[in-house]
Amino acid sequence: MSDASATATVADRVVRVRERIAAAADAVGRDPGEVTLVAVSKTHPPERLRAAMAAGVTDLGENRVEELVAKQDRVEGVRWHFVGRLQTRAAGDLVGRDVLVHSVGRRKLVDRFERLADDRGEVQRVLVQVNIGDDPAKGGCSLAQVDDLVAYAAERPHVVVEGLMTMPPLPPPDVDPNEAARPMFETLRATADRLGLATTSMGMSADLEAAVAAGATIVRVGTAVFGERGAGPWTAPLG
Ligand SMILES: *Cc1c(COP(=O)(O)O)cnc(C)c1O
Repeated sequence: MSDASATATVADRVVRVRERIAAAADAVGRDPGEVTLVAVSKTHPPERLRAAMAAGVTDLGENRVEELVAKQDRVEGVRWHFVGRLQTRAAGDLVGRDVLVHSVGRRKLVDRFERLADDRGEVQRVLVQVNIGDDPAKGGCSLAQVDDLVAYAAERPHVVVEGLMTMPPLPPPDVDPNEAARPMFETLRATADRLGLATTSMGMSADLEAAVAAGATIVRVGTAVFGERGAGPWTAPLG
């Protein structure tokens, strides 16, 4: 695909995703402005990210630390989100980069962020990831552990928990992803409300309607914005 037509396609897709968010919000009497679209740009090159920004995208998400850092150094004027599994030792590469980390699911990671952010005079903003469907393929703490983890982080002054994130298990092919995810999204929102947390990051390309209906304040949308993903992470050209 030529650069110009790839750009047009991303712009068209952003419009379409915004329409889906607006329709889902309207259906339950929510203001679509309460929902932040995080365009998940993993595997895609910086020029594709800029095309999304030209179409009004204000927030980008990545799932690998190295890829996020390389793109953040090349793409300016956008807010960044880290949505992938995070190794404790890689956490240091994110602190001080003004990234909202969606994937904190254990105390060790809270401890690591607390120490690094304190050392650097920073505050690390995070979401606690909840493995709401108890899916062995997904990260995050269990629903039974979330109160404890949020309370644990609340005692650490350089870590701020802004809310909760979840990713439901992949539904079987004959099940509507929105229907499968709906009860899990409702549980996540109710848990956030009970804990006094404003942000819920939930809903992807296939199930964003159910997420918006349940009260998502962030949806993380990859394929529906950028098209099919590449085979592996984008890496910066040498030299
Ligand atoms: C890749 C990814 C997304 C986007 O998924 P799509 O189905 O392409 O919209 C959302 N959240 C996380 C955590 C991801 O890794």
